[in-house]
Amino acid sequence: MEVMQVLHMNYGEGETSYAKNSNIQRKIISTTNSRLKEAILNIMCNNKKVPESIGIADLGCSSGPNTLMVFKEIINIIYATCRKTGSSFPELRVSLNDLPGNDFNYIFRSLPKFIQKIKEEKGSENCYVVGVPGSFYGRRFPNKSSHFVHSSSSLHWLSQVPFGLATNARTTLNKGKLYISQTSPSDVIKAYVSQFQNDFSLFLRSRSPEMVPGGRMLLSLMGRSSIDPTIEDGCYYQWELLAHALSILVSKGLVEEEKIDSFNAPYYAPCPEELKIAVEKEGSFIVNRIEAFEIEWDASVSSNSSTQCEDKKILLSRGQQVAKTIRAVVESMVENHFGNEIMDDLFSIYSDLVGDFLYKKKAVYVNLVVSLTRKN
Ligand code: SAH
Repeated sequence: MEVMQVLHMNYGEGETSYAKNSNIQRKIISTTNSRLKEAILNIMCNNKKVPESIGIADLGCSSGPNTLMVFKEIINIIYATCRKTGSSFPELRVSLNDLPGNDFNYIFRSLPKFIQKIKEEKGSENCYVVGVPGSFYGRRFPNKSSHFVHSSSSLHWLSQVPFGLATNARTTLNKGKLYISQTSPSDVIKAYVSQFQNDFSLFLRSRSPEMVPGGRMLLSLMGRSSIDPTIEDGCYYQWELLAHALSILVSKGLVEEEKIDSFNAPYYAPCPEELKIAVEKEGSFIVNRIEAFEIEWDASVSSNSSTQCEDKKILLSRGQQVAKTIRAVVESMVENHFGNEIMDDLFSIYSDLVGDFLYKKKAVYVNLVVSLTRKN
């Protein structure tokens, strides 16, 4: 599977679109608001005066209501600071990056209204927004052009299926599983860890020359709480349940067993220590903080946490919501490998399994928030 060509969130604004099923990612963005403020204020107040022009890049921007949300928050912070200090509103150069398959047209269509609103609210339209298609695992921006780099819910995607698992002889190494599992042999784990290390280091090396000295980076991504990659938290169970749903389709004769064996998700949930070591090894950035937040799988469905006595029916419908969120994210890849015909059946079985799972367990994502400063 060519991840760069295949991976994209579900297009448009329909029932299964990312735009309609990305509440959980929106919630994740909101949890980082205080860190966002800290970073922007630092950029503005570090120099004696507010920079005349500020470069901002959002990496893995996707399409939908979340795309411009961070940008709007940044404008609010900058505007409030300018008013407080009596400085004039800086020019903002905003780059929205994602893979070429992203629905950039959706974003472009919403931009004129967005810019017009800024003009009305803040009296300034000194914002220049561009779309930058291409992988963030590589150079994307000119030298010293970014003051602030942001990326949310994106860096857990690897640039490719782990190298050691992509070659023909080894594709069945992770039998019956789609990601690292308790039953995965150590070679599978090694392949995932090594692919992540290579990718994350390339990400940092690519950003390093693009950022101004003292520039800030705020990254949030799915992670795990322990050094042990087989720990059952974070997204672990989501891949397990998807593998289970596929195995049910195997028993119905709708999917070949080998198809499951040969699918390995280009995804990795690191632990905080791995991130810290990788940043220190690359050497261009100072780690300000690495924090871990837990977010319930169905946090976007209801603000009340599930209790034992809750009706099973409610949890089953929550299962459907969670399954829709996952479908909007993984469908492009799963469809590419297993074929379009089984998608509705697969996600229907999956939503039952998730609902059932939520009935038995309180399931949480582990979201890691990394705040870095480009060294001088
Ligand atoms: N930031 C948005 C979108 C998260 S979805 C939000 O918080 O809602 C993850 C996005 O990362 C997807 O749009 C996916 O296409 C993008 N992505 C994954 N790998 C990427 C890569 N190597 N380069 C650029 N974008 C990537």
